[in-house]
Amino acid sequence: MRNFAEKKPHAVLIPFPAQGHINPLFKLAKLLHLRGFHITFVNTEYNHKRLLKSRGPKAFDGLIDFTFETIPDGLTPMDGDGDVTQDVPSLSQSVRKNFLKPYCELLSRLNESANAGLIPRVTCLVSDCLMTFTIQAAKQFALPNVLSFPSSACSLLCILYFRSFVEKGLSPLKDVSYLTNGYLETKVDWIPGLKNFRLKDIVDIIRTTDPNDIMLEFLIDVADKVQIDSTIVLNTFDDLESDVINALLSMLPSLYSIGPLPSLLSQTPSNNQLASLGTNLWKEDTKCLEWLESKEPGSVVYVNFGSITVMTTEQLLEFAWGLANSKKPFLWIIRPDLVRGGSVILSSEFVDEISDRGLIASWCPQEKVLNHNSIGGFLTHCGWNSTIESICAGVPMLCWPFFADQPTNSRFICNEWEIGTEIDTNGKRDEVENLVNELMVGEKGKKMRQKAMELKKKAEENTSPGGCSYMNLDKVIKEVLLKKN
Ligand code: UDP
Repeated sequence: MRNFAEKKPHAVLIPFPAQGHINPLFKLAKLLHLRGFHITFVNTEYNHKRLLKSRGPKAFDGLIDFTFETIPDGLTPMDGDGDVTQDVPSLSQSVRKNFLKPYCELLSRLNESANAGLIPRVTCLVSDCLMTFTIQAAKQFALPNVLSFPSSACSLLCILYFRSFVEKGLSPLKDVSYLTNGYLETKVDWIPGLKNFRLKDIVDIIRTTDPNDIMLEFLIDVADKVQIDSTIVLNTFDDLESDVINALLSMLPSLYSIGPLPSLLSQTPSNNQLASLGTNLWKEDTKCLEWLESKEPGSVVYVNFGSITVMTTEQLLEFAWGLANSKKPFLWIIRPDLVRGGSVILSSEFVDEISDRGLIASWCPQEKVLNHNSIGGFLTHCGWNSTIESICAGVPMLCWPFFADQPTNSRFICNEWEIGTEIDTNGKRDEVENLVNELMVGEKGKKMRQKAMELKKKAEENTSPGGCSYMNLDKVIKEVLLKKN
């Protein structure tokens, strides 16, 4: 039996239970593991079951010093295949109401196991910033708690200023007509670090018309709970968001950019079994990688709207025909629940039209796809992981932001970093066709590709030994996670 009396540090990590939050925190867990931590990674029971289903029941067997624990998500399961966790407001409400108790019970159980010499004693917590109940748990157990914000620095800045929109009477909106009457063009000039911002560029939760909007209240509560002495880590890098990071530092002095995590992880030597492990909740279709092998370098448009975005059948068809008419090869990931309230039906005419150059799959290993040399552009919803993964691969983007932080990310992608262009929410097939062509073979696309490659290089510099993100992670480990109380 192993003797755990030799004080290996033990970090307990808990993501918000959604795909775009689990993936980056798992990367951080791997990084800590590679730096000598014993890891407990906490999923909800529901998500962990999905993970074992998508990756195989033995996927996580035999890992050393890396264990998984689960707690319930407090949601009532839906009938049939329905996935209740796709309902972000319900999930957020449940996080606030139901997670503290089972989480504290888990920490107590882990400490009992440690007392019995079975595992090292829990020495620190790393929690998704949205899991604010962990702040209370950290106090109760007298443990340091590093909060990991899973999105861009610019969207964190927006959220920290949410209350100002309410105080100025700009949010909630008076009624839905304010979504279309030009109101969203209102300038936002009181947030340092955000240049030429309009209401429509702010994290879109403020666009609610409901004075009791669950998400608005949830995020204002997050902003209130993040204190001046909180240690926050961000999956971004200084060269990408320097003005915003400086603005944030004046509010949160213990804030560290440690990203992009894909780049940091890929540069950390590892022959570890864990290196190949991912956390996709959907089963990956790896055939698309073989298909990409048959395509010319830089020729394929990769289309993926992430794990939560939904669209109408009309919007899907405009994308479908826009892509088909562009005559460019494309790989399109269509989740079974991508169409709001219905199933995805594409006509046989469309399927015949694209048969020689289009591939549709339901989920893919996105980072591998983005790094394949056949990929020339990414039609994306601008989720932060997709954005950062695209930057790490040096791939320019066509942006169709859907909700939450995505409009803010899109604004930075298109206006600050100039590595993307945006499609109108109700963009028609002609616009899709034209923008796809511009991205793949146009002059603007060429410039955007060049800039994306420059950012990729900067990301690598920031995450290589001696780089800013690399050193920041070291600092957080030494000064916070390993700090003795
Ligand atoms: N992802 C993937 N395969 C897919 C779709 C998504 O591996 O077919 C991963 C992607 O690499 C990213 C995450 O799922 O890490 C999606 O996060 P993101 O922040 O981009 O969007 P969200 O799903 O949160 O809207």
